[in-house]
Amino acid sequence: MKILIVEDDPIFRRILEANLLEWGYDIVVASNGSEAWEIIQKPESPSLIISDWMMPGMDGLTLCRKIRRMDMQGYVYFILLTAKGEKRDVIDGLEAGADDFLTKPFNQEELKYRTRIGERIINLERRILELANTDALTGVMNRRAFMERMEQETVRSRRDKIPLSFILADIDHFKKVNDTYGHQVGDLVLQRFTATVSASMRPYDLIGRYGGEEFVICLPGADGLQAASAAERIRKKVEAMEIIVPDSSKSVSITASFGATAYSVESRESMDSIIKKADDALYRAKNEGRNRVCTT
Ligand code: GH3
Ligand code: MG
Ligand code: MG
Ligand code: MG
Repeated sequence: MKILIVEDDPIFRRILEANLLEWGYDIVVASNGSEAWEIIQKPESPSLIISDWMMPGMDGLTLCRKIRRMDMQGYVYFILLTAKGEKRDVIDGLEAGADDFLTKPFNQEELKYRTRIGERIINLERRILELANTDALTGVMNRRAFMERMEQETVRSRRDKIPLSFILADIDHFKKVNDTYGHQVGDLVLQRFTATVSASMRPYDLIGRYGGEEFVICLPGADGLQAASAAERIRKKVEAMEIIVPDSSKSVSITASFGATAYSVESRESMDSIIKKADDALYRAKNEGRNRVCTT
């Protein structure tokens, strides 16, 4: 785990750095609040901060307040390091949003275990977020998480003027799989389906479970034609899949239908409108006989 040390005193800074490195943490160092604030703005910034209070320029208390006011992806655990030990100072620190305190000169064991508490809380938060965003059966993003990411992708697409496309996929006659082989085999088919689709995607494409046996794929950088050919590639892979039914000599084959559409960057299209277009295309694919890709 990455920790940001914010300390103007080079001696304390070195002690902190040496200790935390020894305990296996990755370290990023800043010598005042402003430097730390810049580090925090960058992607993949540290989730745990150990910051001195008194520093030239922006002090630790101000830094903490600014972080708490910021709209962040994940929680930042903030340990305030201070020579101040008065009750009033502790209250000020808590009011600013600090999670914990260490009084200078600090005891190394205390530093170690207070850091561990922070690490535990950050890891718990990450685990909860992961659970909240993931579909339990297939391990892909759930609908809410996907829509959130998709929204960010539309913003990025408009800002950077890069194309963006979207595919809706629905397994054909899936009810029959359940009816013939049972729900457990149906579940296995859903898992194999998502694994096959995921393996056919580029690393920055996104997949989510839209509901039941319906999945959504977002392709940043792809225009409508590229999305259609990606869908066709996936369709063939799905068609070629052979899913062995556990404890039997049988195997299941499936097909899926796809609706592909491009996001209209110029018209600042809404999410509802993109999904409606993909859904219309998917509906046509079903009507025209399934196991095919239709576009808008
Ligand atoms: P179509 O080709 O028109 O899409 O037909 P279909 O049978 O795939 O579509 P329909 O909407 O009639 O049935 C979808 C089925 O998917 C019904 C539902 O029980 C099943 N299903 C949804 N979620 C799950 C799941 O998590 N596990 C299993 N095993 N089945 C599921
Ligand atoms: Mg200081
Ligand atoms: Mg279906
Ligand atoms: Mg369906």
